[in-house]
Amino acid sequence: QESLLDIQNLTLSLRDQNGWVEVLNNVSFSVKPKEILGVVGESGCGKSMTALSILRLLPPRDARLGGQILFGGQNLVTNSESQMSRIRGRHISMIFQEPMSALDPVFTVGYQIEETLMRHFRISKKEAQERAIAALDSVGIASPRHVATLYPMSLSGGMRQRVMIAMALVCEPQLLIADEPTTALDVTIQAQIMDLLLDLGERTGTAIMFITHNLGLVAQSCHRMVTMYAGQVVESGPVKEVIAEPRHPYTAGLLSSIPDSRRARGTLPSIPGRVPSLRAMPEGCRFGPRCGYAVPPCQAPQAIELSGHREVRCHRWDSLELERLGA
Ligand code: SF4
Ligand code: MG
Repeated sequence: QESLLDIQNLTLSLRDQNGWVEVLNNVSFSVKPKEILGVVGESGCGKSMTALSILRLLPPRDARLGGQILFGGQNLVTNSESQMSRIRGRHISMIFQEPMSALDPVFTVGYQIEETLMRHFRISKKEAQERAIAALDSVGIASPRHVATLYPMSLSGGMRQRVMIAMALVCEPQLLIADEPTTALDVTIQAQIMDLLLDLGERTGTAIMFITHNLGLVAQSCHRMVTMYAGQVVESGPVKEVIAEPRHPYTAGLLSSIPDSRRARGTLPSIPGRVPSLRAMPEGCRFGPRCGYAVPPCQAPQAIELSGHREVRCHRWDSLELERLGA
């Protein structure tokens, strides 16, 4: 099946006080129409940076992109800012962990959804108002006409997240990028928001790129998955197969930490150590210092294509045994 979004050898470098540093290294994966793709990995592995690169939401003077992000016949890496502003919110939209970063505190939620619509469609204010209310209704908000008149600050976290989803989907984009959309919410609300997202995705035919450190959620809800580690894709494939038989030690380690998915980010019971800092990438395999398979660590592996639409970046993919990780 033809891809909706096709990322090929994406690289990203960012500049701070200490100069340029590489954040993404040859990231390649695709999203198919209507698909739900999970992107997993610990904090600091490049998941959010990949999302921000797709929408080109990084400061242009301090971010350098290479490779290709193909979408609708365009390469988003080289698109102009005006081309991107026609895509953002209309063809690709994004929701974040913290809705207040996307909602403007000084405008009512109804007004903000109307503005999103009127930026992309030639419709009257009246029609925009009606569609905004319908959008609030579609995300399960009980009195949408009233909520439309409220400011974001007067809503609960769960309600704000619903409003952000309504705003993200109101233009019926082909792709929704959801970056840890439920992480800041309490557990029951998390489940409701997740169900809502999946249901809306199915109803509108919007593909969802679902970014999370919670592999349990991916196992429940996604069709395919991508594991990222230290700025690279280390494994990808259909969720069922990857979970039944992970080929990369990092995916295997993430899997064995599923039961305690609320553990503090950055620590995993089955994988000793931490994600390396961008300025101190290990020589050779980036996962090497934490890998229970290779002492000393291997040379840097390339991505290897396996049968069944799977890919893995590990020399020893075919000898992976879960016991050796203490799983
Ligand atoms: Fe471990 Fe070697 Fe595979 Fe890297 S390539 S994950 S060091 S076994
Ligand atoms: Mg993140």
